[in-house]
Amino acid sequence: MAYVRTIVREGHPVLRRVAKKVDPKEIPDPLFQQLIDDMFETMYAAPGVGLAAPQINVSKRLFVIDTGEDEEHPEGTKHVVINPKIESAKEETELNEGCLSVPGLIGDIARYERVIVTGLDRTGKKLRLDGGDLFAQALQHEIDHLNGVLYIDKAKNIRKPKPKEEQEEEEM
Ligand code: ZN
Repeated sequence: MAYVRTIVREGHPVLRRVAKKVDPKEIPDPLFQQLIDDMFETMYAAPGVGLAAPQINVSKRLFVIDTGEDEEHPEGTKHVVINPKIESAKEETELNEGCLSVPGLIGDIARYERVIVTGLDRTGKKLRLDGGDLFAQALQHEIDHLNGVLYIDKAKNIRKPKPKEEQEEEEM
């Protein structure tokens, strides 16, 4: 069973902490596996396309992501990434962004169009993700969460979305 956990909002100190690296020995622990299941459940219920552990008040370096299928990833983009690291990033662009921990707002933010991220998967195996567009954006957004950074720290023109923007907006 997986459970929807409470998403904490801006103002909660956990969102400003640099999250702790996960000891790989902890990964097989049933409680850690439950945490991953609950993070997916919470992300899909929100709904969102990414969720970092600090957003459910767990100050550890992992996040879940699922931005759906895209041309590069016909098999989908559902992953958990533990102890992530950005290996490379290129082509800066400006995008709309929203966050489940800052509900009801969006802003314009500079993000890289393409990133390569490495880390560990839920079995402790090495993982390498390579992607662009929304997938790359969400990867950067979630890694920021692990460093105590919110998009509103960097974004311009933070605003309530217009109805059309609201439909298009993905939160993470
Ligand atoms: Zn967020």
